[in-house]
Amino acid sequence: MAEGRTRAAWAEVDLDALAHNVAVLARRAAPAALCAVVKADAYGHGAVQVARTALASGAAGLAVAIVDEGLELREHGIDAPVLVLSEVMPDAAEVLVRARLTATIATLRGMQALAAAARRVGTRSKVHVKVDTGMHRVGVAPVEAPALVHAAASEPALRVEAVWTHLAVADGTTADDQAFTALQLRRFDEVVAALEQRPRLLHAANTAGAIAWPAARYDMVRCGIGMYGCAPTPAMARIPDERGAGETAGEDPAAAETAAVLAALRPVLSLKARVSAVRELDAGERPSYGRRRALPERGVVATVPIGYADGVPRRLFDTGSLVLVGGRRRPLAGTVTMDQLMVDCGPGALVAPGDEVVLIGRQGEEEIGAEDWARLLGTISYEVLCGIGPRLPRIYRGAGDR
Ligand SMILES: *Cc1c(COP(=O)(O)O)cnc(C)c1O
Repeated sequence: MAEGRTRAAWAEVDLDALAHNVAVLARRAAPAALCAVVKADAYGHGAVQVARTALASGAAGLAVAIVDEGLELREHGIDAPVLVLSEVMPDAAEVLVRARLTATIATLRGMQALAAAARRVGTRSKVHVKVDTGMHRVGVAPVEAPALVHAAASEPALRVEAVWTHLAVADGTTADDQAFTALQLRRFDEVVAALEQRPRLLHAANTAGAIAWPAARYDMVRCGIGMYGCAPTPAMARIPDERGAGETAGEDPAAAETAAVLAALRPVLSLKARVSAVRELDAGERPSYGRRRALPERGVVATVPIGYADGVPRRLFDTGSLVLVGGRRRPLAGTVTMDQLMVDCGPGALVAPGDEVVLIGRQGEEEIGAEDWARLLGTISYEVLCGIGPRLPRIYRGAGDR
């Protein structure tokens, strides 16, 4: 779809890197299966392409946040199991059943709506019962969970395939965080022990859990961010200048292995554009809205046709973020506008219209990661990646099907 369009800005998705990351995570989680989380258009990478590559690289199934995302996968011929990660509204149950998506249920009302939909369609619907062990977002309370599982198992139109939970601080590095994750897993184990029958699958881990919490892997892990080549938090990421070489390695072998797995992941998405205009300006000129920054010396300013409508946050200017032009890190010359931004390329810079600018990714020896933006913006790489807008074409590189 992207090919043949005229846009001089795009997101490049490296399917070979994705396949590599899936293999790394699958190996780490084994014998637990890997469920590839492709919600939010695969964190901005393109759900259909990512789903196909992940399934070809060792993922056993897929997960989405909402029914429409599951429908998109089915409409593109993807037949693998697709778990919808929250209980849907009762009026969406029939669409979910018809698309053979796997439902999450967390309430009796939701379970009954799903069973009724499955009866109307004349099929048996797979369900995963979600237990709230402390995240407090979605899920049945632990004390009520065995009864809900029993009620679902007693419905001929439903098949309980799994019981699962979600960890709130598996990526946390403090003692409090670690204790809370341990508590969540203990609550989950207690629910499972109280069931009349263990379902085929138990699952609890996101990327952080899958990498750092062996006890959380159970039968399946649900990985998103790691697949896309990012660490779950800046703190978990290896930041060479903030975490001295070998600091984690010596004392704690588990921490060393976590660091090794994160280090093995490769970024999948790059954000690129071509210079659309170049002008030489005097020292003191103040490009862009608000005239926020004076050029320190006479130099070349390049206009790049990508802006905050594409997911380049306006605030990136205030954080002093840099972009790569001609293999060098260059500051923004002023505020990011909706569709364009300006780069201060410095005195005498050899920059011409058509030159490639890298906002996220590698150019020559330099690299800027989604995690770098996240750190500057005080957020996490998830938000940066999901913010890459639908207006930008996605260009896919690599077969990604080894
Ligand atoms: C988004 C999500 C995941 C994936 O989390 P990552 O940290 O990206 O691996 C797993 N489980 C649930 C319930 C989610 O909502």
